[in-house]
Amino acid sequence: NASRLLGKTVLITGASSGIGAATAVLFAKAGTNVLLLARRTEALKNVEAACLAAHKESGLKDGGQFASIQLDLADKSAIASLWSKVPSNLRDVDILVNNAGFVIGRDQVGDIDESIIDSMFSTNVFGLMAMTQLLLKDFKAKKSGHIINLGSIAGVEAYVGGSIYCATKFAVNAFTTTMRKELVDTPIRVTEIQPGMVETEFSLVRFKGDANAAKSVYTGIQPLTGEDIAEEIVWAASRPPHVNIAEQLIFPVNQA
Ligand code: NDP
Repeated sequence: NASRLLGKTVLITGASSGIGAATAVLFAKAGTNVLLLARRTEALKNVEAACLAAHKESGLKDGGQFASIQLDLADKSAIASLWSKVPSNLRDVDILVNNAGFVIGRDQVGDIDESIIDSMFSTNVFGLMAMTQLLLKDFKAKKSGHIINLGSIAGVEAYVGGSIYCATKFAVNAFTTTMRKELVDTPIRVTEIQPGMVETEFSLVRFKGDANAAKSVYTGIQPLTGEDIAEEIVWAASRPPHVNIAEQLIFPVNQA
């Protein structure tokens, strides 16, 4: 029931494109306030404008408060000082969507540059962990909250050429599962969304901007859209307080 989201506040990392952007807009439409985080400020501002429009169109009185904050998840000190940048009306966060993440290249283990390993782990794992710890402090103090992490099928099944990305997503899975078990005696909920192929900027980033290579990944497959995943995230967040959607694996119908 989407009315459970009315007037709540969601913080979304990686809100400047793809799944994060679609999720921001869908929450806005449901009357939820949204705090949008990513590195690209102009893209964030565009998503913020789309949130405002979606909220206006919904005709809801609740929600309608949005802010964009530039944050590089690889920068631990920026995460530690995040609250100093957040407007006071959006500091009481109810839902954290740890969505930001990326993959670069498809090199095999022996050929991967160390800097690529560091950057993927910094964002996909260490950034996600730091954001979680930051919010968990508040969630524990107020005895409520929902942490929704973006894992992947790559965190369930490893594939050739995906060693580092898979390792980051297996790490997200271990971290998320452990946290959910540790929090069973609290009202705090923990969810992991594990998409298959979703057509976003993700593939473009993987192939360093080569649009043809990015597109070739979807040959024979009708990929999911960011909106498909956003619907799952918003659905999980709007379950009754006693229901915890632990894991959701979502595939395009023709992905094996
Ligand atoms: P996009 O490339 O469209 O979005 C990734 C987002 O992450 C962007 O908003 C980007 O913003 C942000 N981001 C990347 N690095 C950083 C950083 N260092 N600091 C802050 N923000 C960062 O891809 P998707 O929407 O597809 O990906 C979202 C999540 O879904 C990721 O975790 C991905 O691993 C996961 N996923 C995606 C799948 C797919 O097929 N697309 C499949 C399974 C899982 P900016 O560049 O502005 O910082």
